[in-house]
Amino acid sequence: MALVLERFSGSEPGPHVLITGGVHGDEFEPMAAVRYLIALFRTHPPLRGTVTLVPVVNEPAFLRGSRVGDDGLDLARTCPGRADGSPTQHIAFELSERIRSADYYIDLHTGGTRLRVLPLVGYMLHPDPKVLESQRRMARAFGLPIIWGTDPNLEGRSLSVARDACVPAIYAEYLGGGGCDPSGVDAYVAGCLRVLADVGVIADAPVASGALPIIVEDSRPGSGHMQVNHPSPAEGFFEPVVTLGQPVHEGQILGTVTDLLGRESRSIHANSSGLVLVLHTFARVESGTSVAVILPTELAGDRP
Ligand SMILES: [Zn+2]
Repeated sequence: MALVLERFSGSEPGPHVLITGGVHGDEFEPMAAVRYLIALFRTHPPLRGTVTLVPVVNEPAFLRGSRVGDDGLDLARTCPGRADGSPTQHIAFELSERIRSADYYIDLHTGGTRLRVLPLVGYMLHPDPKVLESQRRMARAFGLPIIWGTDPNLEGRSLSVARDACVPAIYAEYLGGGGCDPSGVDAYVAGCLRVLADVGVIADAPVASGALPIIVEDSRPGSGHMQVNHPSPAEGFFEPVVTLGQPVHEGQILGTVTDLLGRESRSIHANSSGLVLVLHTFARVESGTSVAVILPTELAGDRP
């Protein structure tokens, strides 16, 4: 199955920007935002260069209404994939080819049906200073309240392929919960247009709010890997006692996991201080499910 996409080119030469949504099949604001961008470029083509827009990379997962497809593989852990592999491996292979052929890459996500994530734009702390500077610039242009640079050694992701090909790449997160929040769609459309204007593909874009973002660059191994933080000690029913964006201190209770009759309740404590960046909002959890991620705001600086 080939990726469903649209491509728009300007009359002058310029960079090729790839924008994708739906790497995960239950993240809906990205899919709507890319569809809106397609509608926009049909009537207002870019000035120069090329924009390739993929609204739903992982169509089998979307058709199931699920993060992953029937083979159970997470596309964001399967890149660069295999041409002769399972459906997810094949999609990963095709996506990776597209990423390598681009000059800039934007990958749009949300927390899906189970998580909510503070609106953020992220990138890997690329070892090549030129690529890193481009990514910082894209992140700043995108215009979300948090900018998060993380461990460049995470594998399997779309951004891992971009890193290996030295293609400047950012990803974005915007809440989640299984709906399609118009504010998220608008923020994504405007963010992509600002990056496209910044690299010269279009003439101008909506002006950002002007509020200064919180910028955290965290090079510690595993930073940016959201699925390993604050694992639930048991299966059961998770009830958070903190809210998304709340400042917390190390040791503070984030929530409890309880069995069905309420006989056993176990608390999950913050392993560091900072802001609650990600919260598991789907109450049913397995043992080991990550229930929260904390943004280490003590590392906040004024880069990029
Ligand atoms: Zn995702």
